Amino acid sequence: MISPRIEVDLSAIEHNARVLVTRLARRGISVTGVTKATLGSPDIAKAMIRGGVTRIADSRIDNLEALRDAGVRVPLTLLRAPAPQWADRAVACATSSLVSDADVVDALSAAAGKRAITHGVVFMVELGDLREGVMVADLVDVARRVSRTRHVTLAGIGTNLACRSGVVPGDDQMKELSALATTIGIRFGVSAPLVSGGNSANLTWALGRAPVGKVNDLRLGEAILLGIDPLTRTPIEGLRQDAFCVVAPVIESLEKPTEPWGLRGQGAFGAVAASRSRGTIVQTLVALGRQDVDPDGVTPPVGFHVLGASSDHLVLETPARVAAGTEVRFAVNYSALLRAMTSPFVAERLVHLPAGVAAGS
Ligand SMILES: *Cc1c(COP(=O)(O)O)cnc(C)c1O
Repeated sequence: MISPRIEVDLSAIEHNARVLVTRLARRGISVTGVTKATLGSPDIAKAMIRGGVTRIADSRIDNLEALRDAGVRVPLTLLRAPAPQWADRAVACATSSLVSDADVVDALSAAAGKRAITHGVVFMVELGDLREGVMVADLVDVARRVSRTRHVTLAGIGTNLACRSGVVPGDDQMKELSALATTIGIRFGVSAPLVSGGNSANLTWALGRAPVGKVNDLRLGEAILLGIDPLTRTPIEGLRQDAFCVVAPVIESLEKPTEPWGLRGQGAFGAVAASRSRGTIVQTLVALGRQDVDPDGVTPPVGFHVLGASSDHLVLETPARVAAGTEVRFAVNYSALLRAMTSPFVAERLVHLPAGVAAGS
């Protein structure tokens, strides 16, 4: 079997999507499934859709195009605003885009006009994490401008927290977003606007007791894919954490000292932390490097420890020698998942398919 590879259990993804969709539905919140950590995998998108997500979103136009080509029919949202020069491709594959700049809206309008279609825009509001979003004081003005722009409709507003600065989404920000949605709704007659409260980091708030106000959508990637809450990186109750597994073969396993010898400068990836000598150990090399995964984000089997990594080698300490060719399985965090799914060196393999679903369908 080809390795390195990432094994994907679609039934775990479907399960996680269904649990989150069900829990959030009780709070009046729908789920947009986010596929960007999976290179826009159509199989994974379809598993999310079977689990009940109503829309799919991705940050990359290439991924949305792949989803459309693979026959994914639900509305698609472009999560990262397109540069104006990509507007034509954006309107061709996406139903709506998250935007925060009026010039981008103009470019989307021109592109949509050429195709005689209307493109939805969800205007992002900056609520403190300092990534995308217009400042609150300017929202009404830009919304007015959008509402007067032909070939686009103001589909709603949204915000994104936690990703850049780790700002925790909570009651204060969601109340502010709700109030803004009310204002926009009244001023510009947007009926039933989408109010997209954020990403997986919003789940603790969304599944808590506080009123959700007008927030009616969350964009969820990590929570569905890995079953964990990104703010604390702890498992979400009732979700599966085993949807993904990276597998790679051993290429050397030898007894070696723990201390390097010779004059030392920097390693290939910068300064190497000093280590204490622990005598001789079994050092096992796996054919998996920084080009394949984030080595800080992989968890080896019990008893194995990651000692270091370079472009192509993962250095493990193992309790005993492991025969060359033996495959070692690793759990992955979000960073390792993203790298593995987007690396040309890591094959994707679907496992444990639910009954009645053929691979690649
Ligand atoms: C990546 C992203 C998401 C999804 O984030 P997760 O933490 O994976 O749930 C949502 N919204 C935007 C704008 C994003 O870029």
